[in-house]
Parts: sequence; C-alpha cells; structure tokens
Amino acid sequence: MSNELTIIELVDKALDNETLSRTEVERLFAIEAYSRESYYLQWAAHQVAFAASRGTGLLYAQVGLDANPCPGNCDFCSFAAAATEGAWDESRTLSLDDILRYSRAFSQNGAHLISLMTTANYDFDRFCEVAQAVRETVHPKVSLMANIGDFGSTEAAALKDAGIDIVYHAVRVGEGVITSLPVEKRYETIEAVRAAGLRLMSGVEPIYAEQDSAAVIDRMIEVAGWDLVCSGLGSLRTVRGTRMQDFHPLSRPRYTVLSALFRLLAGTRIPYGSENTCWCDGGTNPRNNHMFPGDETIATSMAALKRSLEDNEWRIPSLDEDQRDSR
Ligand code: SF4
Repeated sequence: MSNELTIIELVDKALDNETLSRTEVERLFAIEAYSRESYYLQWAAHQVAFAASRGTGLLYAQVGLDANPCPGNCDFCSFAAAATEGAWDESRTLSLDDILRYSRAFSQNGAHLISLMTTANYDFDRFCEVAQAVRETVHPKVSLMANIGDFGSTEAAALKDAGIDIVYHAVRVGEGVITSLPVEKRYETIEAVRAAGLRLMSGVEPIYAEQDSAAVIDRMIEVAGWDLVCSGLGSLRTVRGTRMQDFHPLSRPRYTVLSALFRLLAGTRIPYGSENTCWCDGGTNPRNNHMFPGDETIATSMAALKRSLEDNEWRIPSLDEDQRDSR
C-alpha cells in the first residue's frame, strides 16, 4: 500500500500549517481545474484568506504617473522601449494637478491604499515630491505605495521620508530573460525596502499558458514565504505590439486553481490577495489601457468595487480599524 498522501490530505496538511515538500506542491499544482480536489483546494484557500484578513476586504487604487519609453524592456509591457509601434498611443507624463485630483477622489471614495506607479526612468526626486504632495492630500490613514524602478538604501529612506508606507516590487518569472532587468538588482531593491522598514507587496508574474511550470512553482514557493501586505498571481494580459503579444493567458479555471494553491502556501502570513482586494485605476497603464476618469466616474467605480467585495462576503473595514499589517 502506498504511503503517499492523497491530494485532500496534502491540502489538510497545509491547512495544519505544515510545510509541503517541493514534490507535494508539484502534485497540487497539477490538480485538474474541474476536479473534486480542485474545489477542496479552493475551499481551503478561502478558509486561509478569511482567517488571515479576519474576513476583511480592501479597496486599492493606482495612479499611473507616466507613459514613456522604459529601459526595463519587459516583454509584456506596452511601455517597453523595445515594444513596436502600436503598443501605446503616445508618451505622456501626468501633471501634479491630475495626480492629486485622482488621489483625492480615490481617498474620498474609501481607498485603503493608493499606489503611485511609474516607468523605470521616472526622475526619483520628482517622484518623492509627488509622493509628499499626495501624502498631504489624502486621508492620513490611507497607505501610500510606490511601484517604481529599482533603487538602493538611500532612495528607500527618501521614500519613507516622503510618506511612502509600502513598495510594490517583484522578481518576475523569467526576470532578466523576458526583461532587461538584472535579477540581482530586483532582489537588492527588495532588501533595501525591508532594511528601511517599508512594507512590501509583491506577486508571482507574469503567469501564462506557455510557461515552464518548474519556474512558476519555484517563484510561488519563494514569494509565499515572504512577509507581504498583499500578494497573488499576476496573469499575463497580452498587449498588441509587445514581444509577448502572441502568448496566451491561463484559462480562468486554471488561474483559479493556481491562485488557490498560492493562497494555501502563503497561509495567514499574507493577509490580502486577489480574492479580498479590488483595484481602481487612474492615469497611465502598462496594458495601454489608460484611464482619465472624472470624479464622478471614480465615485461610481469605487462604489461598484466596494459592492463586489461585499457581495463576496468580505467586510470593508474603516480606515481607523487595524487592517492587519496593511500599512
Ligand atoms: S513593466 Fe515596468 S520596468 Fe518593465 S517595461 Fe514596463 S514600466 Fe518598464
């Protein structure tokens, strides 16, 4: 008789906070999307997410500050300098007035976190000026996040002084191959974030159908072990004119299985993920999906996102309530 645990037993093992071996993670990774085990995994993932966040869901917002040719050259991004004509419509940099208008509207409509995103070449000192102005404009308890290029310890300290609480930074699956960014530099930035006492948000990205499973599993295990405010899997969204325009995103059922697996591996260490957060966008976007909404549109979109979290039975906490490490 085989001593090998069944899939159900493996999920239970993870629920009991026992570390799964690499081989055990591979077995869960291979679960068929429409199998009994898949739904058991999804149930377990929900239990973990609910416990980790005490049943709360958060509203996140992002302001894209610019759309200029980026030397990061990520194969999936419309801002990549190497992307062909047609990947984006035009270079642009948002004015401070627009950035503050979006940030104010997101804050007034209940955002728990506002992310300020730039291409890798955005002037760092200018970013700190912008961050400081946003900090002074939004509710003091709204978390402010930087999603910018690589930096070192001096810059990490400057971000903190400017009022940044959290940094989004990822080591992409295939970093250095599908991007022009050295893997070591990505890890160094993450170290600088931690050393400065800033919180970190990260993800496993991009995820797509043609990918080498072993590389995805490696990164899932690694990132699930980090102390993060929020994390999840970033599915590839193909953009015309980028080098990955002909690749295929994962099917939705397959993405659901992998997301559930990631949530299970992360345990209660990471309180938030794709299941209990919703994003509203303003400004530029690397998927060439720029949005320049008016105040009314932002109010309507934020209300719809709030409803969607509540429809899924997540409770939206007030900014005064402790959001379990979300800032
Ligand atoms: S994903 Fe970021 S670093 Fe990469 S090309 Fe786009 S803007 Fe640059």
